[in-house]
Amino acid sequence: MEENNKPVVHLISKPENMLKTIYTACRTCYSALSPYEIYNSTDDENKMLNLIEKVVASGHYSTIEHIQVTFAISNVSRACTHQLVRHRHMSFSQKSQRYVKEKGQFDYIIPPTIARDEELKKKFENFMGEISKVYCEFTEAGIPAEDARAVLPNAAASSIVASLNLREMIHLANLRLCTRAQYEIRTMIKMMCDELVKVEPWLKPYLVPKCERLGYCDEDKSCGRKPKLAQ
Ligand SMILES: Cc1cc2nc3c(=O)[nH]c(=O)nc-3n(C[C@H](O)[C@H](O)[C@H](O)COP(=O)(O)OP(=O)(O)OC[C@H]3O[C@@H](n4cnc5c(N)ncnc54)[C@H](O)[C@@H]3O)c2cc1C
Repeated sequence: MEENNKPVVHLISKPENMLKTIYTACRTCYSALSPYEIYNSTDDENKMLNLIEKVVASGHYSTIEHIQVTFAISNVSRACTHQLVRHRHMSFSQKSQRYVKEKGQFDYIIPPTIARDEELKKKFENFMGEISKVYCEFTEAGIPAEDARAVLPNAAASSIVASLNLREMIHLANLRLCTRAQYEIRTMIKMMCDELVKVEPWLKPYLVPKCERLGYCDEDKSCGRKPKLAQ
């Protein structure tokens, strides 16, 4: 993907005490101590990680739902955000095509398969220009933006604030880092994972394509990263 065609992703919110919160949730299930006593009982990262790994590996996922993170995302196509908003345990606030009227050429994302061919790229850009002209003609004729947007393409750039809990974050990464996922959402999710791993490195082994966690590929068409289960 060309640099200026890349998503822009920032982690804008996460709990300060992520590990300790999950540890407290995990140990509360098995301890006579109160949650607050558990919370204040240790700062030993290895001890906390050890328990968290065991609990998560056993599928006790409610313990990681206590952690909420928020990303500010821009320079992505509506095609990309449309895929993201299919995830039902996430919360979104997206730039509105009703309330934000495009003035002049709207921003758009060119898929790299098109951008790498000069002739096709030119054709794509010209077509975006044509759409923009029709859109502006409509809005200047008094058509409300909410109706004029009907001519805008999947490529139109968008921005979105996305929040999710850690359970959903891991699920999202497992599904969308798979090479079967479309390139743009895969790129965006990788950037979200990288942002999170920068501040919480212990999450790295969880924020991987699903085959890494399963040990095999469950897709119809495999990229070969992991073997498929014998049929
Ligand atoms: C490679 C790829 C190709 C895709 N292709 C298509 C396509 O061609 N057409 C298309 O329409 N979509 C497609 N999708 C989207 C896909 O079908 C899902 O809608 C999307 O990935 C959200 O996944 P999810 O439902 O697991 O996750 P979320 O909505 O994030 O939910 C997480 C988990 O919660 C549970 N859950 C959530 N809601 C319910 C519920 N109502 N009932 C029971 N359990 C629930 C499930 O266990 C689910 O896995 C594709 C996705 C991928 C990754």
